[in-house]
Amino acid sequence: MRHLLLLSLLLVLALRAAPARAQGGPVKYTVQPGDTLLLIAQRFDVPVSLLAQANDITDPNLIQVGQTLVIPDAAAPASAVSGGERLRLLMDVSQAVRAHLDAFGFGAASGLLRRAMPLLTRDAHLPRPFIQLDAPDAIVQGKTGVVWITSLTPFTPTGAFQGRKLVFIGDGPSLLGYRFFALLPTGALDKPGLKKLMVHIGPATTEKNIEIEGGVYETQHIVLPPSKGGLLAPDKLKAERERLYALWRKVSGPPRWTKPFRFPIAEGFPRTSPYGTRRSYNGGPVSSFHAGSDWGAPSGAPILAPAPGVIVLAEPLFVRGGAVIIDHGAGVYSNFWHMSQIDVKPGDVVQMGEQLGLVGTTGLSTGAHLHWEIRVNAVAVDPMQWTEETFP
Ligand SMILES: [Zn+2]
Repeated sequence: MRHLLLLSLLLVLALRAAPARAQGGPVKYTVQPGDTLLLIAQRFDVPVSLLAQANDITDPNLIQVGQTLVIPDAAAPASAVSGGERLRLLMDVSQAVRAHLDAFGFGAASGLLRRAMPLLTRDAHLPRPFIQLDAPDAIVQGKTGVVWITSLTPFTPTGAFQGRKLVFIGDGPSLLGYRFFALLPTGALDKPGLKKLMVHIGPATTEKNIEIEGGVYETQHIVLPPSKGGLLAPDKLKAERERLYALWRKVSGPPRWTKPFRFPIAEGFPRTSPYGTRRSYNGGPVSSFHAGSDWGAPSGAPILAPAPGVIVLAEPLFVRGGAVIIDHGAGVYSNFWHMSQIDVKPGDVVQMGEQLGLVGTTGLSTGAHLHWEIRVNAVAVDPMQWTEETFP
């Protein structure tokens, strides 16, 4: 909160120092519930700095419903500050804020700054009500990306990427607009190349091309003993898969985690099979990939929750054996298969590090190991990335 106050103060100081322009017609506006100074500035197409100056506003947080504002120059667009100038002005403000944060030793505030920056740099190419679209230029196969949308309106955006529907989640109103994010999961077998990200707010649409880059994944040939071969029965695979996909497609609410996920097992056990390895069973074609990450651990080793969440499945499955699924919110699920013992039940709320059960070799498994899989909007993504980064 102190950081936000500092940001606001710096913003106002920087904006007040900006060059003024001649004031025009006596257009007035009465502040409505839900307004912010930026929303009003956007509505009348005037720089927020000028609006603040014209009304002697020193704190953009302190406008009041019912207050009358003078809208400077709204009737004389010919003399308006150009989009380029405005962008440069806002960039100057961003740099001033960054410099001050550095001066105060807020190196760790980079996350805050990353979130605040888009609000200071409206992209003039976007149709209203978009203020900014912030998404990566490239994502490696199997990794998770994030798209942030800043909007003038509180209406949740919709969209799609690689034919998959995006699930936008509100991050609440901020000083200058409404913020939403959607996770962009990619699978290890997603086709590399340029893919279009589409985002809609009401009738307004914007898009961005994102490159899917090829990941480095090996191919593994697995031979199952005859006693386990029966588990490959297609109808049983299909029934179990459909049940799980129905579960993974649900989005229960906002994220329940606030930091990187931890490993779901004690230190010291080797990782035996990474995420993404292409798989062929009993000499068949490569049609799937290893959806999770495996650790070589003996039967009986405790399995720990990698992040907070709610248990949504805890029972033996035919193919995957002893299974536990944690709903972390935002359409993100942790999955554990082949367990020898289950210590939780559906509805349980678990914290990071809490014991879920024990390692085993039940179901379609060739030996005792821990299999941890993360599903994002039903797509199996690399769980290791989730232990290194904080999403969104
Ligand atoms: Zn596995």
